[in-house]
Amino acid sequence: MAGAFWVLVEDDRQGSPKKVTAEVLGEASRLAGQAGGEAEAVWLTDKATEEGLSQLAEWGAKRVWLIENPGLAPYRGEVWSAALADLAAKESPKAILGAVTTRQREGLARLAARLGAGLSADSVAFAIEGDKLVATRPVYAGKLTAKMTWSKGPWLATLRPNVFRPLDPQTGAKAQVERPSVTVADGQMKLVERKEEVSTGLPELAEAEIVVSGGRGLKGPENFVILEELAKVIGAAVGASRAAVDAGWRPHRFQIGQTGRTISPKLYLGFGISGAIQHLAGMRTSKVICAINKDPEAPIFKIADYGIVGDLFDVAPQLTQEFKKLLDKS
Ligand SMILES: Cc1cc2nc3c(=O)[nH]c(=O)nc-3n(C[C@H](O)[C@H](O)[C@H](O)COP(=O)(O)OP(=O)(O)OC[C@H]3O[C@@H](n4cnc5c(N)ncnc54)[C@H](O)[C@@H]3O)c2cc1C
Repeated sequence: MAGAFWVLVEDDRQGSPKKVTAEVLGEASRLAGQAGGEAEAVWLTDKATEEGLSQLAEWGAKRVWLIENPGLAPYRGEVWSAALADLAAKESPKAILGAVTTRQREGLARLAARLGAGLSADSVAFAIEGDKLVATRPVYAGKLTAKMTWSKGPWLATLRPNVFRPLDPQTGAKAQVERPSVTVADGQMKLVERKEEVSTGLPELAEAEIVVSGGRGLKGPENFVILEELAKVIGAAVGASRAAVDAGWRPHRFQIGQTGRTISPKLYLGFGISGAIQHLAGMRTSKVICAINKDPEAPIFKIADYGIVGDLFDVAPQLTQEFKKLLDKS
């Protein structure tokens, strides 16, 4: 619909939209409300589910454009962006928003090139000013923020996860589901081999309600096993500071902070992390922050709700044992 704020659905590839889609739909609904439009979801998938469609409605989508086609899996940016460009040309949405995920940051950049449209990548705030959308995004690795607007539509943007609030779920809400006829072309690229990483059994960092994070204080990659044991007991994801990532102890996708992931879990436990401003940029909106550090002057204690001054090599195993006892009882 003209005037619509489209939200690209990020899913788990099994037919369930991910939490980050609720965040983008929440912001799209707020902006569309001010601009006189509606939030609509656009779901490109090889397998949609009824539960997934209901979920999108409950998260605020008034309409779902469902492009369900076996040619959309595995993800290839050129195929997705061509299908999206085709639909956008027919429907003229006002804005097309996605999340900062591996697929969507590429897909939206390609779409912007196809449409000749502007893209605000990694956006952290939006405002409707008159008849314009103004986006705020970090620049120079987060040292500054820049405000930008678009000289013409559609307005394309990717939104940083764990920054925007989802709407309160609208239980029982229904969205109109459209199944538009869109060409899903063969791409130039073909998947040769897919190697799935062996699952750790731990939740994904960006989605986890509890995050256990380790820094240089862990002293080596082998010691992350201490945090993984704790994480298994309390159902947490394991993250890391940049110092730990730069030392090659954890892959970059586990880095929390300005140049890593932004997280906002219910509980963040930081072990051997000093609390540099760039680390705080990625976790300071956590609901409860608990820091474990042997230095009582460590800056992380300034923002922590709870602090334990002690050696993490003593504290972490003790916490694991205590949580085990408590959780086994319940
Ligand atoms: C442009 C830019 C971007 C950056 N982006 C990021 C980012 O995204 N994420 C990020 O994390 N950093 C980032 N940094 C780096 C940041 O400035 C810090 O250098 C980094 O966060 C420090 O990591 P750390 O806290 O693990 O290490 P340190 O600062 O070295 O702290 C280690 C802490 O462990 C404690 N400790 C040591 N041994 C023990 C023990 N046995 N038990 C308990 N505590 C112990 C020490 O007291 C100390 O406080 C960035 C820097 C720049 C310039």
